[in-house]
Amino acid sequence: MNDLLLRGGLVHDGLGNEPATADVAISGDRVAAVGRDLGAARRVIDVDGLAVAPGFIDPHAHSDMVPLMSDPQPFKILQGVTTEIVGNCGFSFAPLDEESAAEARVSFGDLAAGAEIVPGSFGDYLDRIEAAGPTNHVAALVGHNTLRLTANGVEVALRPAALDEMRRLAGEAFAAGAVGLSTGLIYIPGTYSEREEVVALATVARRWGRAYTTHMRDEGAALESALDEAIDIGRRAGVRVQISHCKAAGRASHGKSKVLLEMLRAARGEGIDIRGDQYPYLAGGTFLNAVFPAEAREGGIVEFQRRLRDPDEVARLRKRAEQGGDEQSGLWAQTAPDGILVVRHRDPTAVGRTVAAIAGDRDPWDVIVALVADDPTAMMVITLMDEDDVRAIMADSLISVGSDNGMPVGLDHPRTWGCFPRFLGRYVRELGVVSWPEAIRKMTSSTAAQFGLTGRGVVGPGAVADLCVFDPETIGHDGTYEIPDVPPTGVAYVTLAGSLVVEEGSFTGARAGAVLRAG
Ligand SMILES: [Zn+2]
Repeated sequence: MNDLLLRGGLVHDGLGNEPATADVAISGDRVAAVGRDLGAARRVIDVDGLAVAPGFIDPHAHSDMVPLMSDPQPFKILQGVTTEIVGNCGFSFAPLDEESAAEARVSFGDLAAGAEIVPGSFGDYLDRIEAAGPTNHVAALVGHNTLRLTANGVEVALRPAALDEMRRLAGEAFAAGAVGLSTGLIYIPGTYSEREEVVALATVARRWGRAYTTHMRDEGAALESALDEAIDIGRRAGVRVQISHCKAAGRASHGKSKVLLEMLRAARGEGIDIRGDQYPYLAGGTFLNAVFPAEAREGGIVEFQRRLRDPDEVARLRKRAEQGGDEQSGLWAQTAPDGILVVRHRDPTAVGRTVAAIAGDRDPWDVIVALVADDPTAMMVITLMDEDDVRAIMADSLISVGSDNGMPVGLDHPRTWGCFPRFLGRYVRELGVVSWPEAIRKMTSSTAAQFGLTGRGVVGPGAVADLCVFDPETIGHDGTYEIPDVPPTGVAYVTLAGSLVVEEGSFTGARAGAVLRAG
């Protein structure tokens, strides 16, 4: 007898084929059969009128420490996301020693969701997450920023033997089950690295058959050279490449989606296995300090704060920031002060307001300097993209959906609570940018293949029963930049390895997720 039967839904296989009305039988943690007259089941749920799809896979998550929060956090499972790939943008929470853990607390502690950042190996981190019990499956990348902090501190130049140490630590992480290597080449200390350093580490990933994901050095003015670097790393290391949160960022770069997609195609033509992901919004979210030129942050947070209190330094940085136009000049010139919304800051009166609103009659530059000097790891939501670029990137079959979520507490980008339902509601149902089967393929099998998650991302006999059942007529997300933390609509049932964790749109409270280790 089967454990569960989902009866009469419109079944999407996740491979992009046209859906068909069928029953889905689940036995244990697997899909037993898809078809008609599949026999008795302990529980039958009538899903007539609903779509049955593989659970969505989020290739770009920052939920590394979310499982450690005291209450279970259903913000992804309510979107139908059954697996998150964490450790993106070069930030993982292992491997860390005492010194690098202290630096991580200061420089990317905001991504820890209030959980304690402790020293430990990558394997220790995975064990800790597993013991805490995630609400969805988690697979983890090892981050370049973290490797470099541990092997070399915040120094710009690599100490002798630091690269060997990074390679050793990366190998250890892959042995423990990391599904890939990530870089965040605009962040400290990743931004100090030369291409050779990344090639050397990506070569280790390649040896283990793991992927390379990258938040590139630039996503606007110098998009071409940044993407060229990512492609070259793929070429030389022979590694699968995932370009994180693909976009044409900044006013001066709108329209560059075309060149981005052309370069991806050309690289694939050359034999490089390169793809990308995207979140369906015009605004991104990152550290408020990213508005400053990279040189401002040289030497770590304390040095950065010192510069922001030195009028000569501030004047020099302003000139550079206002000029913009290259990969090291920061985001200031790429939007307007009313396009920068402060979403996390130690001063609660700043939160939820734009830099323009906070400034009033004052000079917005002085305001941003004061805000960042006061809280160097504050977070922002920043409007950088153009709708035509968003749609062009989305329509390409090489691009999957990835949330780039922040922490599910306080004010954050609405993508955290609604990325996947928004994509389906707004861009598939309302605007028809991609078809339903293709949209589901992008969120499932395409991402599973990129990260080596075998047996997931498809609905068929023998596949792991990670499933999302949703109403195509109502799926969506009403969250806004001002009120982002609202649950999505239209996601009816979600199973994790056969167990129901969302029923009739409500989270059951179960911490039923597993840690997915590669190899
Ligand atoms: Zn990123």
